[in-house]
Amino acid sequence: MPLASTQAFVLGSSPFSEQDQLVHLLTIDKGILRAMAPGSLKVRNRFGSLFELFTEGEFHYYWQENRELITISKGEIIHSYFRIVSDPQNIFYFYLVADVFFKFIPFNRKEDRLYRLLHTILTHREEGVEINLLLLYFLIWVLRIEGMMFNPQMCYNCYAQNIRQAWFKKDFRGILCQRCRTNEPLGLLGEELRFIKWTERHSPKELGIWKDKIDTTKMIRSFTKKIEYHGECTLKSSQYLVEFR
Ligand SMILES: [Zn+2]
Repeated sequence: MPLASTQAFVLGSSPFSEQDQLVHLLTIDKGILRAMAPGSLKVRNRFGSLFELFTEGEFHYYWQENRELITISKGEIIHSYFRIVSDPQNIFYFYLVADVFFKFIPFNRKEDRLYRLLHTILTHREEGVEINLLLLYFLIWVLRIEGMMFNPQMCYNCYAQNIRQAWFKKDFRGILCQRCRTNEPLGLLGEELRFIKWTERHSPKELGIWKDKIDTTKMIRSFTKKIEYHGECTLKSSQYLVEFR
């Protein structure tokens, strides 16, 4: 049986049998992997708190030919984000982040930007950046990495540039300017379009400058809907956020 190891974030775990858990890992170089962790539900087990949500670890594993599922033999924690992830202020935002990974991102695809994105969201939350701005930054970047982000400076229909206000097309494939819109309900103001552009080249460190300039609640709702539309999925965890009440 081939052996390997990888650096990864734990995206979630669920009981598989009486003693074993099924774990989803966002690896640094192989995308999302499904893994079996034998014996991890025993009271005394060798994994400890390794499988808490968004723990970053080094995982050693093996696999059998023709089997999609890998088996984790051991692992070490690189960094635990449990303190910020489990904080009642943050927990539902992080559930939505995990939900996006499960339902929107294809498994087993080589891609390191998603790993870096999650890493930057977690570390900046540790440094005190507001969670709602971080979630919005995350949603925009996930769409960008998946090739589904529109150009925030151009109308999809007439190619008008530097538009001051825009509306999401109903199929979410672009935005429309004032002249081209009909009755699309979801709008974006000038500062919000500039914010989307800004995220292309800035780290979340300075997100705070946007706090009173954009309607974060409206934008989180709109981009969650866009992900649901493209992913043909329902992100049920969003219902626990104040933004969706
Ligand atoms: Zn137009």
